[in-house]
Amino acid sequence: MDARRRIPATDRVLDDPALAEAARHLGRDAVRAAVHRAQDDAREGLIPPEHVVPAAREHLPRTPGGPRPVLNATGVLLHTNLGRAPLSPTAVDAVRAAAGTTDVELDLATGRRGRRGRGAREALLAAIPAAEDAHVVNNGAAALALVATALAAGRELVLARGELVEIGDGFRIPELLTATGARLREVGTTNRVHLADYRDALGPETGAVLKVHPSNFRITGFTSQVPVTALRALNVPIIADIGSGLLHPHPALPDEPDAQSTLAAGADLVTASGDKLLGGPQAGLLLGSAELINRLRRHPLARALRVDKLTLAALEATVRGPATPTAEALDRAPDRLLDRARRLAARLRDHGLDADAGPSTATVGGGGAPGVELPSAAVRLPAEFAAALRTAPAPVLGRVERGRCLLDLRAVAPEADAALGDAVLAAAGCG
Ligand SMILES: *Cc1c(COP(=O)(O)O)cnc(C)c1O
Repeated sequence: MDARRRIPATDRVLDDPALAEAARHLGRDAVRAAVHRAQDDAREGLIPPEHVVPAAREHLPRTPGGPRPVLNATGVLLHTNLGRAPLSPTAVDAVRAAAGTTDVELDLATGRRGRRGRGAREALLAAIPAAEDAHVVNNGAAALALVATALAAGRELVLARGELVEIGDGFRIPELLTATGARLREVGTTNRVHLADYRDALGPETGAVLKVHPSNFRITGFTSQVPVTALRALNVPIIADIGSGLLHPHPALPDEPDAQSTLAAGADLVTASGDKLLGGPQAGLLLGSAELINRLRRHPLARALRVDKLTLAALEATVRGPATPTAEALDRAPDRLLDRARRLAARLRDHGLDADAGPSTATVGGGGAPGVELPSAAVRLPAEFAAALRTAPAPVLGRVERGRCLLDLRAVAPEADAALGDAVLAAAGCG
């Protein structure tokens, strides 16, 4: 009772110079919320009343709101609920530099209006020699919507029945396509389609042939698809939605189509996402024929799908810059991962925790490569840690497997191991 009465009032706590300063850049509400949390801690006897000010400082958020950083220890490299690809530090710097007024649409040499996003376009063309031109929109779905509208509204899009894909959260590519006013001309069966099926479907109503990569499922057994190299004989625009945004083949992902190879095989246009295997910001890439890209860019809908300067900056830096965090995660050696897991588990055991290390299996996730298993390693803890880590001040997301909470290191940079260990110790009350 006595200690409770000694809890300082909110206005007195807010007089603290550090908190007053924080209020100037975070806003008063965010700081007040931190103070209230510290006062609650004191009321519950978790901290003595004289610790309310330092506790409030610790509770200060890094930003006034918005999505919080979460450490991805799920073993799913591209986790849709965690915002898919994390940006590289280079891309983050580019975003920061572009955040103020920039030359996004100005040619500084002449002082005249410049082509919006030319840096990102040039980076993409340098990375994908088979692309004559490139255009960037909001996401993969926007790229498909623009193509379907510009090439097939009121006409037919020919596509295989086995490629009528639902991506996730109820997003169905066929529904998006018909929403543009294009009619779908389905060919083949669920498991098999032949070149003759496509050929028989072509006619005066044909706008384009669309090939959609089944990026989140696999059909095995008695199957056949028609590769782009064969479709090019049809003499209509061939659009390939490759999904993942892989620019070149990757040895760990032999079945994942990439932009360069798909265009070299004869696709007129490739559509892809920026935040899957490309490892960049949310964006939709349109790559390929200069004539088609020009039509898309001039279509009235293009303006409604255009990306902002931050996206363009992050995309250009991702394409030009060093290996992305996603590429690094794909390339990590399993024995190094196991070493890291063992070291981390040993540190946790030193604090009396029930922790061990072992091999595990990571996946690419929402970004593609269904069925690909990436050998990985994980620290294993009692299952209760999953919720404790998820709801901690610095949240960590693991996964529960056979009654244990697994912290899979495939998507965790080695530099983050210490923070991961700290988070576990804090969740165990050893912080
Ligand atoms: C992910 C995906 C899309 C949708 O892309 P978003 O960037 O999520 O809009 C479309 N097609 C395929 C094949 C995909 O894998």
